[in-house]
Amino acid sequence: MIVTPEILAVRSARWANTNLCWGLVPTMGFLHEGHLSLVRRAQAENDRVGVSIFVNPTQFAPNEDLDSYPRSLDRDLELLGSEGVDLVFTPVPSTMYPEDFQTSVAVEQLSLPLEGASRPTHFQGVATVVAKLFNIFQPNRAYFGQKDAQQAVVIRQMATDLNFQLEVVICPIVREADGLAMSSRNVNLKPEQRQAATVLFRALRAAADRFDQGERSGDRLREFMRRTVGAEPLARLDYASVADPLSLVELDLIGDQALLSLAVFFDTVRLIDNMIVEVPITAGSKTRSRPQRGD
Ligand code: AMP
Repeated sequence: MIVTPEILAVRSARWANTNLCWGLVPTMGFLHEGHLSLVRRAQAENDRVGVSIFVNPTQFAPNEDLDSYPRSLDRDLELLGSEGVDLVFTPVPSTMYPEDFQTSVAVEQLSLPLEGASRPTHFQGVATVVAKLFNIFQPNRAYFGQKDAQQAVVIRQMATDLNFQLEVVICPIVREADGLAMSSRNVNLKPEQRQAATVLFRALRAAADRFDQGERSGDRLREFMRRTVGAEPLARLDYASVADPLSLVELDLIGDQALLSLAVFFDTVRLIDNMIVEVPITAGSKTRSRPQRGD
């Protein structure tokens, strides 16, 4: 496994054999099974796999958790080594953002709601660093998690708009046994907060059950999730959303599909989670090509 903080070393490894297909998995490290599921999917679909580990400062606002974001490079490298990853890129911030850096990528509409409303500079940071990683690695495919549902649609849009010649692959959410979506930030929860944090999954699951029983009102499902989170004393709701999975526009009435999503604070730790609900495809109806639940 090649481990390097240098862009040139990534390029020479990537182009050593031009016939090989490369998959890229961008991460911020402190790896867990969610990240590793992306790595395994990338390995199944490509000849070689590269992983980047970079806690990207430009996607954190000054009041956010850049300093307390968990890091453990040695453990991450051990995990990636045992997964058989080919190349790990571990740049320092000055490599990605030299002093005279002045370009950024903004995916305008899709960056505004949900996470973007709470974190107005976040997706510009994400889109910019991902565009740089795409240019550095020039992968055939790049792997992202549905855990960050809005990030997935923002990156897809960026890849299309900027004509990146690669496939963006979105992988299902990996959860703990009690339903909590795996996240590097979970380690910052105190034990009682960790228990309370299952409220995200519980609220999404219960709202999805209501949808399955025929509820189609966006307002009622939003209100239901708000009340479920409100009943958990250690949780403070940031937002509860029922939106179109592709445009991210809030829905009054759900048609085929909706993206249910939540952001919840436990003191200073902010967690997000989501679930796609959909009307079952009945015999004779057309096949849908939109995202499926769990994707
Ligand atoms: P991060 O290190 O948090 O930036 O995540 C790197 C990639 O892993 C992103 O594409 C995330 O969406 C994805 N990811 C994080 N957590 C999970 C999870 N629990 N299940 C699936 N993918 C995940």
